[in-house]
Amino acid sequence: MAQPLTPIDEHQHHPENDDQYAGLQVNAGVEQPPIVNPYMKHRKRRPQLSVNDYVEGIVKGNSAVLGQAVTLVESLIPEHQMVAQEVIEKCLPLCCQSQRIGITGVPGAGKSTSIDVFGTHVLQRGGKLAVLAIDPSSERSRGSILGDKTRMEKLAVHPRAFIRPSPSAGSLGGVARKTRETIVLCEAAGYDTIFVETVGVGQSETAVHSMVDYFLLIQLAGTGDELQGIKRGIMEMADGIVINKADGDNIERANLAAAQFRNALHLFPLPPSGWLPEVMTYSGYYELGIAEVWDMIDRYFAHVRANGYFDEKRRQQERYWMRETIDEQLRARFYNDPGVQQLLAVKEQMVLDNQQSSFVAAADVLQYYYSTLK
Ligand code: GDP
Repeated sequence: MAQPLTPIDEHQHHPENDDQYAGLQVNAGVEQPPIVNPYMKHRKRRPQLSVNDYVEGIVKGNSAVLGQAVTLVESLIPEHQMVAQEVIEKCLPLCCQSQRIGITGVPGAGKSTSIDVFGTHVLQRGGKLAVLAIDPSSERSRGSILGDKTRMEKLAVHPRAFIRPSPSAGSLGGVARKTRETIVLCEAAGYDTIFVETVGVGQSETAVHSMVDYFLLIQLAGTGDELQGIKRGIMEMADGIVINKADGDNIERANLAAAQFRNALHLFPLPPSGWLPEVMTYSGYYELGIAEVWDMIDRYFAHVRANGYFDEKRRQQERYWMRETIDEQLRARFYNDPGVQQLLAVKEQMVLDNQQSSFVAAADVLQYYYSTLK
């Protein structure tokens, strides 16, 4: 039942309770209750884990702790980064026992469909699979289109699969470094196959290539000009090219495309692995030719483990990542320096106004930065 309204008392005279506003009565409000909903439980804060808690959880294969550690790796907050680096350091001795496979292809090539079936195929043999992604577009859209669980229905519910979308913040170099660090954590957690997915449209392939043992390029059969749209560099990086959607009335075109790729690959010099990239057709959707593609990948691993290239490539990659990390940190320090930022703005304007040449302006800014280091 509605409560009768309490009139405002004399001491709280309200201007609209004046006689001139006949027929109008402003009532006193009700007191603010102490809490809105006494039955609402406060959300429990996640307990802060120590470095050892993280490492222990990861080593035990606790995927929730692994996920939290990856979130720390991706965080831009300096304290998180410090913890993350310590966790990575402790996981390093346990890493590196996996097969790392890069998978690329233009949007629509069938990457997620294929990763779902390739991943399920690998898991049938036992072991654990992590699917990570590097997606340069996420830098702009603040969200990743790759590595999304909903795109991989079977793996998303598989108890031995861990799916993580692309880290979204930062430069490609930064995103790639985070993915590489995530690989270390996943390996320490016992994931013995790692897929790193990327969109086959730009520089991200180079980043992925520098962190995987095998690089698989997914292609589609088109209208006879298959080779045109593909950058030569990407083809050169590929250890295997697979033509997807070889099903229905597309089989013949897929075979034709495969023949064209084989011919093109013969024009390239033999890669340092000593492995001539193979070309195959398959259908991710209808699950045709999956075992054959995977046999090809197994053959590659047997080949490079036997001739020592597997270890050699990993060593080269370590060196590459050391340099990348130095590059990235130097840049960050330089561009985050407030004095540099100020001077840079002034000098850029001078260059735009033709008051100073770009070289002199650059030298001035660098000179300033060096002087701050003394
Ligand atoms: P992504 O953008 O590279 O991840 O590609 P998706 O896996 O999302 O696939 C794009 C579209 O191609 C979807 O509609 C799939 O159902 C379809 N597709 C994927 N693989 C095959 C295949 O082997 N055969 C056919 N016919 N369609 C496929």
